[in-house]
Amino acid sequence: MRLSRYFLPILKENPKEAEIVSHRLMLRSGMVRQQSQGIYSWLPLGKRVMDKVNKIIREEQDRAGAIELLMPTLQSADLWQESGRYEDYGKEMLRITDRQERPMLYGPTNEEMVTDIFRSAVKSYKNLPLNLYHIQLKFRDEIRPRFGTMRSREFLMKDAYSFDLTKEGAIHSYNKMFAAYLRTFDRLGLRAIPMRADTGPIGGNHSHEFIILAETGESEVFSHRDFTNFDIPAADIDFDDVAGMQAIFDKWTSVYAATSEMHDEAAFDAIPAGDRLSARGIEVGHIFYFGTKYSEPMGAKVQGPDGKEHLVHMGSYGIGPTRLVPAIIEASHDENGIIWPASVAPFDAMVITMKPGDENCDRVCDGLYTGLTNAGLDVLYDDTDDRAGTKFATADLIGVPVQLIVGPRSAATGEVEVKDRKTGARETMTMEAALNRLT
Ligand code: ATP
Ligand code: MG
Ligand code: MG
Ligand code: MG
Repeated sequence: MRLSRYFLPILKENPKEAEIVSHRLMLRSGMVRQQSQGIYSWLPLGKRVMDKVNKIIREEQDRAGAIELLMPTLQSADLWQESGRYEDYGKEMLRITDRQERPMLYGPTNEEMVTDIFRSAVKSYKNLPLNLYHIQLKFRDEIRPRFGTMRSREFLMKDAYSFDLTKEGAIHSYNKMFAAYLRTFDRLGLRAIPMRADTGPIGGNHSHEFIILAETGESEVFSHRDFTNFDIPAADIDFDDVAGMQAIFDKWTSVYAATSEMHDEAAFDAIPAGDRLSARGIEVGHIFYFGTKYSEPMGAKVQGPDGKEHLVHMGSYGIGPTRLVPAIIEASHDENGIIWPASVAPFDAMVITMKPGDENCDRVCDGLYTGLTNAGLDVLYDDTDDRAGTKFATADLIGVPVQLIVGPRSAATGEVEVKDRKTGARETMTMEAALNRLT
C-alpha cells in the first residue's frame, strides 16, 4: 500500500476528549472516528488491526471445535419475552418498533437467538456437544460510554454458545473455551488472568472474567502474583481430552484471583503480603456456565440415550475485539506512539523514502516493496514528499514493527536503514540482507 494513495487521517494535536492513552493514540493515528456518542467508524488502519485480532480469535475458536455462523443484530422481542429477560434487561437494551408496530431490539447478546436456532434443529444427544459462535456487532446503551472503543455503545463481540447433554459435558465445553481464551490472549501479545467473576444479566453460577492489568482499567481486581508463571496451552493440545482440559483449568485457577464482586477478603488475607496483588484491570473476555437457564423457559431439549427428553446444559463465552484493540495499545506504547505486537500489526513493515523521485531511492524502495509484498508481507510504503520529521513521527505513531528507511546516500550503494520500532535499534544493511531478515 502506497501512503500517497492510502487513507490515513493523522491528527497533529492531541484530541481533548481522550482521557486515556489508547483513546488518544487511536484517534491521532486515524484508526477510528466517533460518529455519535459511543458509536465509531473503524477507518482503514484500525480495520486492519481489528481484522487481525478477529483472525486470531477465529483460529482459536475453530481449533477448540467451535463452529462459526452469523446471527443478525436486530432481534424480535418475542424471544426475550420467552426467556423472561425482556423486562429484566433494563435501559441498556435499545428497543425499536418496526413499521408493523412489532417490538424489536438491537441485540446486546445472543443467548435467546442461538437457543432458538438450536431447538429448531437439534433433537438428539447424538448431535452434541455443539458450540456455535459468531463475531457480530452488539448494542448496549451504556450509561457512561467512554475511553473510545474500550466502552462504546455499539461494539463487536465474539460470542460462542455451547450445548451439552449433561452438566459434566458442559463443564468440559467450558474448559475448552477457557484453554482457547488463554491461547487467544497470548497470541494477541497480552497476559490475561482468569478471575472468578459475577455473572450479571447473563446468569449462572460458574464464571470467569479474563482481565488484563492496567491502571486505566475499570475493574478492581485481587490476585496472587503467581499467575504470571503459568504456561500457555500448546497449539496441539487435545481438546477432546476431558482430564487434560480439566488440568489446564485447575492449574490456572489454583491461585487466588477474583474481581471485586467476588472478592473474598479472608482468602486474600491468607496470601503472604508480598504475593498479594490488588490492582485495576480491563475485562477483555468473560465465560459463563449457566445450566438450563435458557433451555428451560425456551424448551430446548434433546432425546438422551435413555430415550427420554433432557433440557440441554448451556454456556456462553464472550470476547470484545473492539475493546481488545485499545487494551493492546494500553499494554504496548511509548511516548511516540503505538508499538504493535507483530501478530496484530496493521502492516508488517513500512518502507520510507527520504527522497521520492531520486533514482536510487526509488530503485531500493521499489525493490524492498516488491520483495516483501511478494513474500506475503503487508507493507506500507511512505512515498509522500512530507518532511523527514513528519515521516518519522507518523511511522512511530502508527507503530508498524519494522521501518525500512531509504535515503539518497545509502541508496546509492544499495543500502537501507532498518529500524526496530520497539527497541529503537537501527542497523544499516544491503537491500538483500534486509529482505532476508524480514522474509
Ligand atoms: P463490562 O463489565 O465492561 O460492562 P460486561 O461484563 O457487561 O462488560 P459481557 O456481557 O461479559 O460484558 O460481554 C463480553 C465481553 O464483551 C466483555 O468481556 C468485553 O470484552 C466486551 N464488552 C462488553 N461491553 C462492552 C462495551 N460497552 N464496549 C466494548 N466492549 C464491550
Ligand atoms: Mg456491561
Ligand atoms: Mg463485566
Ligand atoms: Mg462480563
